[in-house]
Amino acid sequence: MSENQKEANLPIAPFPKNVVMSGIRPTGMIHLGNYFGAIRNYVRMQDNFECYFMVADLHSLTTHPDTSLLKNQVKRVIAENIACGLDPEKASFYCQSHVRETGELYLYLNMLAYKGELEKTVTFKDKVRQHPENVNAGLLTYPVLQTADIILHRASHVPVGKDQEQHLEMARNFVVRFNHRYGTVFPEPHAFNFDQELIKVPGLDGTGKMSKSENAYSTLYFGDDNDLIRKKVMKAKTDSGPTEPNSPMPDYIENIFQLMSLVSSDDVIKKYKSDYDNCSIRYGDMKKQLAEDMVQFMAPIRQKTNDLLANDEYLVKVMKDGAEKAGNSARKTMELVRNAMGLNYF
Ligand code: ADP
Repeated sequence: MSENQKEANLPIAPFPKNVVMSGIRPTGMIHLGNYFGAIRNYVRMQDNFECYFMVADLHSLTTHPDTSLLKNQVKRVIAENIACGLDPEKASFYCQSHVRETGELYLYLNMLAYKGELEKTVTFKDKVRQHPENVNAGLLTYPVLQTADIILHRASHVPVGKDQEQHLEMARNFVVRFNHRYGTVFPEPHAFNFDQELIKVPGLDGTGKMSKSENAYSTLYFGDDNDLIRKKVMKAKTDSGPTEPNSPMPDYIENIFQLMSLVSSDDVIKKYKSDYDNCSIRYGDMKKQLAEDMVQFMAPIRQKTNDLLANDEYLVKVMKDGAEKAGNSARKTMELVRNAMGLNYF
């Protein structure tokens, strides 16, 4: 590229339009948070965007070094995503470790990421607190690997939950630095949700969020059977109810209403909201209703997942096709990257 082009920040090659990229770690069964924060958006985007969705198996090594369960967990996540509506014919749906170019881009980006900013990342600090015995460099550079995943396809839209906002901000910083130093190869990626706001699905215990690897009892997994779903919902924290009309809601009650808003009908939500406002609410009944609505929503996805898991040949085909499509896109980007960086000696 010419110096003039570089100074004017012109893209080295025209930015592709509306490329979407996101991933889910195979660290356990997917849950309601993954669905409403991420997968629902994947499904909504796959018709109108160029989509790359990935099972982030390499990311899971930062916290789950034992790989003996990985094969089954990767297949489960693939089956669960498809059961939720992801269509591997429309999107490129692949496994992170099958696209080796990611490792190369991660290496280059590591030279543009600074120890101080990585140490300040909230998710890093949380992980250090939870597992002080395993503070590895991969954990520290998790946002760098995540940036490599995203920009490997020169993606601009990243459908993720609210917990990923800071990582996306870091991704933009790394992109700006790369573009400034070597020439404009990458568009700046942004967290994306179809509705206005990014979503955080709360845990049933009134604190934190639903999560694959923590809070097993306050998280609703798509693999849970109907009775377990009911049991978990019925155990959600409540109190004896408001005593003054139109009282402000405690967080844990607001969470139950939020969960209801995801799966129950408007009439049901309206009824309980008005019961709350006039102090006649019976939380036992509300939770029973929520439990049944959850079962209605989750059971068909569990059934479909089990059917897909019984068809190993199909899951392997999905992985192979996805790796080919994602690999083609990755190779094109890396060509641009090496040229921009001057790593083209002959
Ligand atoms: P987990 O935190 O359960 O291990 P991942 O880190 O694999 O999940 O995240 C996969 C996707 O699911 C990300 O886009 C993340 O933002 C989203 N996600 C995870 N938990 C929640 C939640 N409780 N609410 C909304 N989105 C979530």
